[in-house]
Amino acid sequence: MSTKADQQDAQVPSDTVLIVGSGLAGLVAAFELTRRRVKCIILDQESAENLGGQAFWSLGGIFCVDSADQRRWGIKDSRELAMADWMNSARFDRERDDVWPRQWAEAFVNFATDKMEKYVKARGMTFLQVGWAERGDGRASGHGNSVPRFHLTWGTGPEVVRVFAEPVKKAAEEGLIEFKFRHRVDEIIKDENGRAIGVRGAILEPSDGLPRGVKSSREVVDSFEYFGKAILVSSGGIGGDVEKVKKAWPLDRLGPKVPENFVVGVPAYVDGRMLEITKDAGANVVNADRMWHYTEGLANWNPIWPNHGIRVLPGPSSLWLDATGKRLPAPLFPGCDTLATLKHICSTGYDYTWFILDQTIIAREFALSGSEQNPDVTGKSYLGLLTRIFGGKGPVPVQNFMKHGKDFIVKDNLEDLVQGMNELAVTVKGPELDIDLIRKQIDDLNLQLANNFTKDAQVMLTDNARRYTYDNWTRVAKKHSLMDPKHGPMIAVRMNLLTRKTLGGLETDLDSKIVKPDGERFAGLYAAGEVAGFGGGGVHGYSSLEGTFLGGCIFSGRAAGIAMAKEVLDKEVLPEDVI
Ligand SMILES: Cc1cc2nc3c(=O)[nH]c(=O)nc-3n(C[C@H](O)[C@H](O)[C@H](O)COP(=O)(O)OP(=O)(O)OC[C@H]3O[C@@H](n4cnc5c(N)ncnc54)[C@H](O)[C@@H]3O)c2cc1C
Repeated sequence: MSTKADQQDAQVPSDTVLIVGSGLAGLVAAFELTRRRVKCIILDQESAENLGGQAFWSLGGIFCVDSADQRRWGIKDSRELAMADWMNSARFDRERDDVWPRQWAEAFVNFATDKMEKYVKARGMTFLQVGWAERGDGRASGHGNSVPRFHLTWGTGPEVVRVFAEPVKKAAEEGLIEFKFRHRVDEIIKDENGRAIGVRGAILEPSDGLPRGVKSSREVVDSFEYFGKAILVSSGGIGGDVEKVKKAWPLDRLGPKVPENFVVGVPAYVDGRMLEITKDAGANVVNADRMWHYTEGLANWNPIWPNHGIRVLPGPSSLWLDATGKRLPAPLFPGCDTLATLKHICSTGYDYTWFILDQTIIAREFALSGSEQNPDVTGKSYLGLLTRIFGGKGPVPVQNFMKHGKDFIVKDNLEDLVQGMNELAVTVKGPELDIDLIRKQIDDLNLQLANNFTKDAQVMLTDNARRYTYDNWTRVAKKHSLMDPKHGPMIAVRMNLLTRKTLGGLETDLDSKIVKPDGERFAGLYAAGEVAGFGGGGVHGYSSLEGTFLGGCIFSGRAAGIAMAKEVLDKEVLPEDVI
């Protein structure tokens, strides 16, 4: 802790930058600052084991446009197509609060086209493949990715963290960085002119030995104050606090009522406290009602953080039914339009749905989001990868969920399957399912699968996916009837709502400088990453194209690092566009 004498010294304008939050956005900013020889103090409420924050747990998917990897897979992408997809998904419509988000969106798509791939590859990252997330709402002018753009990092989240953490740790060895773990910031200190000059907070008791991601104690053992010439808030979103999510729920768009039950897709430290603290200091928070939560969440049978949920990244073939057993309407198929699906689910009055599939589909099409759920890609094991693709059983973590997950029912026939679904539904006071309705919908779908032609939009979508070589090899099951015993057993999966990302946040300009409610800049104060809505207070508008969160942390953290270095050094040390 800094002593009183230290604090007086520290109040003398210094050349040090304070970074609150050692997640990806904070690390990227620290990387940009220290490569310009600017000193930083990085404060985080968690321990050193948690360096990298959520990014460590991530799948490592990054949104790039017209990349070498896309071209290798025969994907013709362009700035124009990506910009149109982004704007059609974002649907910016707020005169005041979308001013900066719109500019960030344009700048981000340009960065994703011109520099993202080069920037991360220059740090040592490589991509395994390009996935096709958010396949869209079926309209050229609607939501979604027209082409695959989700560049999966070889090594997943830990690799994304590594390539920025390593140079930052090296800078620490050189004396450019001081880490202050278990330091929880509770207040931003301002001078008499309103400039942010420091942070104040509590030192939490050590959490040594507690594994990464596990909820840690909030027992306070001491207090601290640190001062710096510029301060970056990079403290993440609100997804770990379900009550905050419920409070921000946009009933006008996702009503009629706030869902009761969620599984939680982020660690407990994603608590959103710092958003309030920064607002109280005078920053502007915009678009807080825009969030990105998933509709395919599983209760983790082996949880790390409280109420831990895992998101399924589904391929396109499963039959998706609402809680009453009715098929979701077109184009709400697996992997197409997260928010439209969420809206539909909310309109049913229940907060879960059902996937119906079989062994062939689960083996080929089910992937789970998260580094620990993909040990083959995380561990960079080609053998593991080949076993996943050709082993016929699916990834080992999926097999474990089938064995231990409470949301899974695996049976040899439809009667037993629906009975199992009804037994599970009773436990959450859900409606009883009608086997005849479910059988009819399966029969109708199977009739459409027997032909090369179809009127069923999901079958068309699946055929379209097969035209993408990577999907055809690894992500789409061979066409077959859903109740064919050769492809059994039959499987039903209850899909819960899962909290994840905060799309709104602290309003910032293109230098990641915080904007105040009157539009003035907040002297000395910057924000990056999820707390800033991944740039501007909401670069995504209403909807994301995926891979845009890690990408948004990299882009906004980089902008903050470069701008803070300029402010501290008063001169350019490295060109702004250096890769
Ligand atoms: C399982 C999972 C899979 C994902 N997969 C992808 C993907 O494939 N692609 C993609 O684009 N995105 C993905 N994401 C989202 C992405 O990882 C996050 O949005 C991003 O990493 C957020 O980074 P951040 O730096 O803004 O915040 P965080 O990673 O949340 O870090 C914030 C840090 O600030 C600290 N902090 C907070 N408040 C305080 C305080 N008051 N004082 C001190 N410290 C504080 C926290 O302890 C934390 O360490 C995934 C997320 C998860 C959880």
